[in-house]
This record gives sequence, structure tokens and C-alpha cells, in this order.
Amino acid sequence: MIPKIEQASTKEIKAFQENKLAELLTYLNENSAYYKRVFKENNIAIDAIQTIEDLSKIPVTTKDQLQQNNDAFLCVPKSKIIDYVTTSGTLGDPVTFALTDNDLERLAYNEAISFACAGVGKEDIVQLMTTIDRRFMAGLAYFLGVRKLGAGIIRVGAGIPELQWDSILKFKPTYLIAVPSFLLKLMEYAERNEIDINASGVKGAICIGEPLREQDFSLNTLSQKIKAKWDIELFSTYASTEMNTAFTECEHQQGGHQHPELIIVEILDDKNHVVPEGEVGELTITTLGIEGMPLLRFKTGDMVKAHKETCSCGRNTMRLGPVVGRKKQMIKYKGTTLYPPAMDNILNDFNAVESYIIEISHNDIGTDEILIKIAATDPSEKLLQSIKDHFRAKLRVAPRIAFHDKKEIQKLQFPAMSRKPILVIDKRS
Ligand SMILES: [Zn+2]
Repeated sequence: MIPKIEQASTKEIKAFQENKLAELLTYLNENSAYYKRVFKENNIAIDAIQTIEDLSKIPVTTKDQLQQNNDAFLCVPKSKIIDYVTTSGTLGDPVTFALTDNDLERLAYNEAISFACAGVGKEDIVQLMTTIDRRFMAGLAYFLGVRKLGAGIIRVGAGIPELQWDSILKFKPTYLIAVPSFLLKLMEYAERNEIDINASGVKGAICIGEPLREQDFSLNTLSQKIKAKWDIELFSTYASTEMNTAFTECEHQQGGHQHPELIIVEILDDKNHVVPEGEVGELTITTLGIEGMPLLRFKTGDMVKAHKETCSCGRNTMRLGPVVGRKKQMIKYKGTTLYPPAMDNILNDFNAVESYIIEISHNDIGTDEILIKIAATDPSEKLLQSIKDHFRAKLRVAPRIAFHDKKEIQKLQFPAMSRKPILVIDKRS
């Protein structure tokens, strides 16, 4: 189930996408109140946009614009909408995304070819360890994708290691879809209950939500910890509700492959110029083939690096490296630019660290301050020093660190209405 276009030359892929782009612009000009207005206000004749490079003539779409004009992005009458999902907005209110029947079909196709890219086939059984409801898109996408692929699926949902193992032993899934840190919890449970994880029949895990690799694609601490005991393949997949599209690693695990039929990618700097090849910039996407709420030049807020060399799997599609961080969470600290995921990697190195939360704030002189609140099994001065030393060795700077009660950290991590744990509190805005 590998689309032909993914093995075409980069030139063919570009021409293919430019055709799709023309279709999208026509569609938006007819059906999107928001983009119609953007084209008009900026004197943009859509037939003047012929190439991917021409996209630079169109203003970008920001998260705030999407939030403030949510309804104007909708291109179909309400009667055509099947599924409603929401994503947390930056200004408070969640942003609504509406999917038509065709959009759900596209979502299924996207996920099916993404699974196929990671090597999941018809004969496989997949255990879903993420939420499928709560207005989330991802869980539903996985279900639809597995169904389209013709594989089997066990919808266990998030958490509950006991039920996860019960299902693994009963149904013998070959792949898991999970947050990688949850795999560690599964391993702990198995150890306590004398379950032989390597005899479970699980071949691999499709991992979401947390990075598995460093920028050079070597395993980070988290995935090293998993692989040290559990002999499974770990594939990273990166997606968001706004994109309606996933970037999933192939068997060579060198970044998530782009699906040219579904999405156009630009990596932009602060001034919305394309960054030089190989540099980190903000992932900016244009969705293809969407009916309900297509997006044009949407700035995702994720800082990433694109890899364009042909992959060992033969695909010429662009690959995205692990997310370096959220643009909004960029920290200028003692002359160094930092993103929270780099700190997560360091804290994950310490088994004594049970949970933590990273607080970013401005100090009196207007520069950034970092305070990491940690709950530890052994909150000693020695542990504190070794964490700080590790920070200095890896990132050249050490933030302030304070030990707190585990309950207190958990309360901070799970505020009311939160669907996933919060690891960063940014007090700067
Ligand atoms: Zn590949």
C-alpha cells in the first residue's frame, strides 16, 4: 500500500503538488469565506500562484487567526459535517475542526499509508493505547486507518496497564500505538507481574506525543530505556488536528515521511521566509484534498528540520526530524536557546525523578528564567547536584531546580479539563 507518487522523483512530486495546489486555491476561492477575504484584501489572483515558491505571495495563517475566525474557515454547510473535533487554542477557547464524510475517508487513507510506511500490514493486529473519544482526532484516525489497511485493532484506550497486558496476552497484537513513556509503565507492570515482554509477540510500537530520537536520529534516553529491555521496533509518528495528516517513519527510522498527496510543507523563519536547507524553522503546512476546513500556509508552531535526501527505503519524499520544540516555548537562557523537549530528555535520564514540571518566567530584567519542580524518590542534595551537572554537560546551562511533593506536581500536571499531562507552564505571556 505505498502510493506511486511517494517513489516518484522530487521533480515529479513537485509538479504533482503544484497541480493539487491549483485545485485547492480554486476550491478555497469558491468555498472559504476566510481565504476569499485574504485573496481580496491582498489583491491575490489565484492563477498567479503556479509553483510551491509562489506560495510566498500569500500571507500565512496563524493559530490566532484560525481561532478568531473559526467559522469562516468552514467550507461546507453544516449538513455535510460528520465529525467534530477540537484542539486547544492559544487564546483560551478551543478551535473546532469539522470533517465531512470525504474528510474521514481521507483521514483513513492518510493513516493507512502511514501504517504501511512503518511496515504494518493486513496480517497485523494493532493495539490502540490512546483515547478515541473526547473530541480527539488521533484515536479515530488510527481506528479508521487500521480498518482501511485491513489489519485488526484492539481499542483499549489510554492507561490501565493491567487491561493492556490482558489484551496483549489474549489477542496477541503485533503492533502497539502508544505514548513512549507509557511503554515504560507497561514494562514495569510486566516485571512486577512476571510477564515475559519479549515473548509477547509484539514486534513494534508506533509512538506519538514524545520524541524518540535526537536530531541525528540516534535513540534518545527514553527510547534507549525501552529498547534496553524490550526488543521491539519503535516508529515515531507526528501529526496534528490542523494537518489532518501524519508524518510516520519507515523501517529505516530517519524521520517522518511526507505524503505528497495530502500536504505541502514549508519550513519558515520569523519573517515567513523559507529557511536555508538543513536549518530549523517553523513547520508551515497547506492541506490537500480536504473539504471541511482546508488550511493554506498554516504555521503550526512546531520547530523542525526537514531532510530531503532520498531515504534508504527508496522514497524521495521529504522527512521531518524530531520536533525540536514549540516555537512559543523557545527559551533564551544565559545566552543559549533552549526548548523544553531537550530538558525532558535530560530529566528522563534519572530514574529517581518521578515527575516534574518546567516553569518558564520572565525575571525583573526581562530575561527568561527556568524553574524545574521535581518529585523524586530520594530528594537529596546529591541528586540535585547530579541533575544540574547533567544539564551543564548536555545543554551548557543549569536551570533552577526545586524538590516538591509528588501530589503537588500531579495537581499542576492535570488541571481541570486537561486531556493530557502538562509538562511546561509558561508564565511569560
Ligand atoms: Zn524511508
